Amino acid sequence: MGKLDNKIALVTGGTGGIGTAICQRLADDGAQIVTTSLNQEKAVMWKDNQNFDSTIIACDVSNYDDCQSLKDKIEKDLGVVDIVVNNAGITRDGSFRKMDADKWSQVITTNLNSVFNVSHQFVNGMTEKGYGRIVNISSINGQKGQFGQTNYSAAKAGIHGFTMALAQEVARKGVTVNTVSPGYIATEMVMAVAEEIRNQIIAQIPIGRLGEPKEIAALVAFLCSDEAGLITGANLAANGGQHMH
Ligand code: NDP
Repeated sequence: MGKLDNKIALVTGGTGGIGTAICQRLADDGAQIVTTSLNQEKAVMWKDNQNFDSTIIACDVSNYDDCQSLKDKIEKDLGVVDIVVNNAGITRDGSFRKMDADKWSQVITTNLNSVFNVSHQFVNGMTEKGYGRIVNISSINGQKGQFGQTNYSAAKAGIHGFTMALAQEVARKGVTVNTVSPGYIATEMVMAVAEEIRNQIIAQIPIGRLGEPKEIAALVAFLCSDEAGLITGANLAANGGQHMH
């Protein structure tokens, strides 16, 4: 028996570095996985490379109508979603003086509005069922701010405000809402950074190494389990001690 048997889990951006590990772990725990993709060709290749079954649905999470169609498709083909992991995200970095309105709004709509667009579709199903888990993937840079990321830090900090407010609204209905704030994780994007710069980043991490995607996935899986029913409105940092508060 898996901890998440008979649960339907939607992981946005499941084809990315951290998303793949989350999908894998939730599938290992017994959940039926649904993920979203912007790029269907890449998504089909991704699906072929995984050792678990999943349903991939084309959806731009920054677009509310797309998210409504996503819900309709999932409910028609699979059923009511039990778990939502809002994981899709992008960066469009630049110092504030060079931050144009496009970079600002792309990051706010993709990283923050998406959390509303997606969660709004599934909260009623969860409260009616009397069970649900929403996990929002933020970032260490939403907690401490980061040079060159006014857009990203604002969006990621905003996510936790959303978490705390929604957690209060649905607490009595068996639905928990939490934020996970990863530090630097050894994904393709971080591993592509020049070794010298990467070593400078690692030097700032007390445990002396980058995080692994599967470590974020393990935390998400715990929050999605029945055992985590006491935890709601929390912001769980997984950053090797790089930022403590
Ligand atoms: P990746 O770039 O590897 O993956 C991002 C995923 O999001 C991809 O599957 C991408 O799909 C999807 N995506 C992007 N935009 C949209 C959109 N508009 N609609 C639907 N899907 C979209 O990112 P990571 O795995 O590194 O990061 C995952 C999350 O973790 C992000 O929210 C990120 O901010 C956060 N994070 C990451 C850290 C790290 O060190 N990597 C540290 C802290 C937080 P497609 O490929 O089809 O475009």
